[in-house]
Amino acid sequence: MTSKRQINDKEKAIIMEQHGRVCFVDGVPIPDDEVVEFHHIRAFSKGGLSTVDNVAPVCRKHHRTIGTMSLQEYRDKVDLDSFFADGEPKYLNDLINAKTGNCGEPVVYEIEGDRITLYFNSSPHNLPLYECPITGWKYFYANIPIKFLENDTLFLRKQSAFLFWLNISHANRGRFYSRNGLNSNFPSK
Ligand SMILES: [Zn+2]
Repeated sequence: MTSKRQINDKEKAIIMEQHGRVCFVDGVPIPDDEVVEFHHIRAFSKGGLSTVDNVAPVCRKHHRTIGTMSLQEYRDKVDLDSFFADGEPKYLNDLINAKTGNCGEPVVYEIEGDRITLYFNSSPHNLPLYECPITGWKYFYANIPIKFLENDTLFLRKQSAFLFWLNISHANRGRFYSRNGLNSNFPSK
């Protein structure tokens, strides 16, 4: 523990109740013959407190190699190490899928004059629609949940470096479906 104060046995019991006898880093059960160790989730140096909701069980093996990282940082590191372990190129979709198990969900939209309505999370979001004077592209600004994001993976793999660069500006767009049945990527002319 990198804290000013060790947690007591009562607090340890509460933490075990919350997390179960599993290592916070990879979710693997800690063997019965192994002593459960404890570590900060958010680093004490970054304002993480020695409270029951900021301390979690960790196995001895991981605790020995965690160094100065918090559990959160170390878990992200272990996650990313295994994410890249197969040596294959990774794209935004791969990362979102690995983190959330879901990406590229279509957003249904409807355009009426200079307004666009997006339908997601079971409520309509009505926004102003702008037009680029150079390209004529319609565009809008919206905060959209990450599950609607997807990258043009196949497109990017096939294109030259120059086209790759050109496409970067809207490479991370979401997929949109018009309510009148026209499917398209947005922005479109
Ligand atoms: Zn572990």
